[in-house]
Amino acid sequence: MLRAVVRVSAGTAAVLGLRRYRLLVPPTTAYLMVGEGCRYSCAFCPQAQASAGRRDRLSRVVWPPAAKEEVVLAVREAARAGKIKRVCLQVVHSRGIWAPVLDMVTALAACGLPVCVSCSPATLRRIGQLLEVGADGVTIPLDAACCRVYRAVKSGSWQRRWQLLEGAAVRFPGRIGTHLIVGLGETEREMLECLQRLHDQGVRVGLFAFTPVRGTPLAQTPPPPVGTYRRIQAGWFLIRTGACSYADMRFAPDGRVVDYGLASQQLEELLKTGEAFRTTGCPDCNRPYYNERPGGVVYNYPRPLTEAEARECILQMEECGEEDGDALALDR
Ligand code: SF4
Repeated sequence: MLRAVVRVSAGTAAVLGLRRYRLLVPPTTAYLMVGEGCRYSCAFCPQAQASAGRRDRLSRVVWPPAAKEEVVLAVREAARAGKIKRVCLQVVHSRGIWAPVLDMVTALAACGLPVCVSCSPATLRRIGQLLEVGADGVTIPLDAACCRVYRAVKSGSWQRRWQLLEGAAVRFPGRIGTHLIVGLGETEREMLECLQRLHDQGVRVGLFAFTPVRGTPLAQTPPPPVGTYRRIQAGWFLIRTGACSYADMRFAPDGRVVDYGLASQQLEELLKTGEAFRTTGCPDCNRPYYNERPGGVVYNYPRPLTEAEARECILQMEECGEEDGDALALDR
């Protein structure tokens, strides 16, 4: 069998004791990556065919290589010590990767933690194989909230990816997830509509903020405005907790959400714990500093927020970055 390169995110390497890095917030999931030189060409990804970016990066995170046996042993020990609660295996779609992925999932599942695999399998049969060898869930990244954005930044068809997700959610209920990236050119309306549809299908969603990475075609594109990200996070929280739905929301002509269909006091009450602004996705996935620089905007909080941080996030929801006044306004 082809031996695949195994990479470990810098934070994970520190928690597993494989490298010495200083951590501001430790990851609660071990993030691993297999494969090198992806056959897809996502314009935001340093692993893509067309990227001149560093191969040891995914988003802004560095992923040093390690030997498979060493990683599996370290995961087992970290699980025993309660340092990590889940393993996430990111698959880079290179030639001959499937057998090493199944082998890796089998070895990781034996460590006694839930393992999720983030990959783009072409068929339901392949998703079934991952679950059979011990994966707890499979994440099929949609990344783009709509067809238009998908065409601009990814290869292949949004429609086909959507059908696969839908089919997988029906065949393997509760075991399927996806990733969506805010800031690839979609409107807030498109993103929230997509989130509602995914929620209705029972698909779990990890929300990301677009992060420009050197060497990729989107290296010069800015990350999303914080106001946009906070409004999407709040909308996603309200949808998944059943407080409101996409159908209750109102939007400005440019797609900005201006009303969730809730009284502002009620909205503030629901958001004041800060839960809405934490990392979302699989249970115990906190992805510290995946989208953010230390000291910069914290798009996804990897830990509970303080009261002051939650208040600041709620205030940021009112930022629209433009002069016109049709923005979300909370009475206080
Ligand atoms: S939500 Fe987190 S743990 Fe789940 S596949 Fe995505 S990055 Fe991995």
